[in-house]
Amino acid sequence: MSDRYQAILLFGAPGAGKGTQGELLGNIPGFFHISTGDMFRTLDRHSELGKVFDSYSSRGELVPDEVTVDLWREYTKALTTLSKFKPRSDLLALDGIPRTVAQTEIIKQYVDVRGIVHLVAPSTEEMVARLQKRAMEQKRVDDAKIEVIRNRLDVYERETRPVLDQFDASIVHEVNALGTPAEVLGGILQVLAPIQASISELVAK
Ligand code: AMP
Repeated sequence: MSDRYQAILLFGAPGAGKGTQGELLGNIPGFFHISTGDMFRTLDRHSELGKVFDSYSSRGELVPDEVTVDLWREYTKALTTLSKFKPRSDLLALDGIPRTVAQTEIIKQYVDVRGIVHLVAPSTEEMVARLQKRAMEQKRVDDAKIEVIRNRLDVYERETRPVLDQFDASIVHEVNALGTPAEVLGGILQVLAPIQASISELVAK
């Protein structure tokens, strides 16, 4: 087996439910969930990096690639050192990274992407409504303003959607993002359970 992290990507527009599903997935033995949005939000807002994050996220923009990937690498290494993430037995569920073609190129050195779950919702308006609801519930200032939400969706179309073309179409699986969390999780597990099983077999050998 390669010494890159074995991983799957949770992919989809802002508001598609990657975070909710990532958390659910992270509670299943053998999956380890890393969200770069959560990673950034744990930064001290007064620190140098925290200020950089704020200045981009408050406008619905992406943090520059190098800063993002460097922090993600340190964060992942630290979780490994602390034995929270066990790369030999856990399948890494990446949520929110890679988000640009440049990030994809860098990340491929460290991550072996075994599958991509593309959460698909039929309407953009549904995504906007979800983001507004979440912003109110979680007091997430970055998602609160309608113009920021629209920009996040534009940035997704322009910078993030092309990431899908960087992978073999055979590993990209579309899953319906609408439904109860349990229904959506059901769709995701149909895709991921066989991938996890095939990796566990390799590890056991
Ligand atoms: P999220 O919770 O995943 O929507 O992320 C919140 C914010 O964090 C985004 O709007 C970006 O500003 C920043 N962010 C998260 N992941 C990345 C990434 N891979 N690249 C650049 N910026 C990111």
